[in-house]
Amino acid sequence: MRVRRMRRLVVSMAAMLAGMLPQMPAARSQATQAPEAPHSAAYSTRSQQAYTLPPDKLAKAIELSRIRNILSITGLVWGLVFLWLMLATRAWAELERRVERISSRRWVQGMAFFAAYLSIATLAGMPLDWISELYERKYGISIEGWGSWLGDLGKAVGLTLAIGVPVMLLFHWIVRRAPRRYWLGAWVATLPILALLTFIEPLVVPLFFKQEPLAKNHAALVTRLETVVARTGINIPPDRMYLVKASAKFTGINAFVAGMGATKRYVMWDTATDRLADDEVLFIFGHESGHYVLDHIAKGFALSAVGLFFVYWGCAALAGWMVRRFGAGWGATELASRTGFMVLLFSISMASFLLGPLSNAVSRHFEHQADVYGQEAIHGLVPDPGKTAVAAFNALGESWLDDPNPSPFIEFWLYDHPSEQHRAEFAAHYDPWKDGGHGKFFKN
Ligand SMILES: [Zn+2]
Repeated sequence: MRVRRMRRLVVSMAAMLAGMLPQMPAARSQATQAPEAPHSAAYSTRSQQAYTLPPDKLAKAIELSRIRNILSITGLVWGLVFLWLMLATRAWAELERRVERISSRRWVQGMAFFAAYLSIATLAGMPLDWISELYERKYGISIEGWGSWLGDLGKAVGLTLAIGVPVMLLFHWIVRRAPRRYWLGAWVATLPILALLTFIEPLVVPLFFKQEPLAKNHAALVTRLETVVARTGINIPPDRMYLVKASAKFTGINAFVAGMGATKRYVMWDTATDRLADDEVLFIFGHESGHYVLDHIAKGFALSAVGLFFVYWGCAALAGWMVRRFGAGWGATELASRTGFMVLLFSISMASFLLGPLSNAVSRHFEHQADVYGQEAIHGLVPDPGKTAVAAFNALGESWLDDPNPSPFIEFWLYDHPSEQHRAEFAAHYDPWKDGGHGKFFKN
């Protein structure tokens, strides 16, 4: 249900530039939320809230959410502290000195420097990854063996290096070539890179999960999905629908749209097909269709492009100031040096930290639109779109043990989807068809 790409655009960006790239290949990371479908009747009698959990799961969800929130915030802060520590202890300056001894060729030195940086950043983030995995296992969300987990981590690091090192070489080259206007050049270079990352993102999924055409073992379901396709009028042929065998690693339910142009596709985890009623799968598909129809990938891309223009401009000014003020102590005498480039990464990390809530707010807006679209898309195809949507949100929330009552601050700062509670409450009350009306996106 999550449109990862939205967040991904900004994250992979910051990733790339701020050294969080280690998180990027997370075809697996922060999936979102949810659970076994057929509980809706029980829910409605149990409480006024639209998303509820049985008492044992509720206690677990509250505990796990607290841990996830602490880990998320710690991770955000640690990303910044790590970069600052490495500057303040002159570790990057020392690394720069060492790579200069390896070879006289600049590009070899650069490759060594940025590969070392990405590896060290990955290692620095590993304790948090590991603690997170421990808890996701303890609560039964992750069921992957440690060997497989380490293997995935290794692949993620490999991808990070394969993509991150050339990109950093390119950006560093731009800074050296245009010491004053480099931020503009970097911005121009960022756009095709973002587009390329969006394009190849679905292609890395098979590195982490087995996948197959959805129609292979779910022909009847695909036939029903085509009734949604007919209603939306969009072009998602069955060969663009994939089933990912995530149940070998996760118990959570997930589905998303990803890719661009020739790689654009609809992807559903087998946890969803196995555990959701077909009507609920239809709703999720309607939601994802909403992302397609409402052009959320392109809009997210455009917003990122505009936002990054100002971020780069501001970060260039900030990094210039930091080099003048602290450069001597950090061993970064000029911005065009490799250590100076790390000052630039540090400033972009700060911007990405501060702007995270803004990008999440945009994402939540798109998700809400897709929820409305999804509910309207299945009108006439299921007996009661509102009930179906509420059941799907309950299933999603339960499968990930999502907190039914997250604090508004946590939802504002960390959530790229509205909370399951807000989504379910909206769905329960959304009925534009009563009194002969119609929805926002469909005439009937
Ligand atoms: Zn979505």
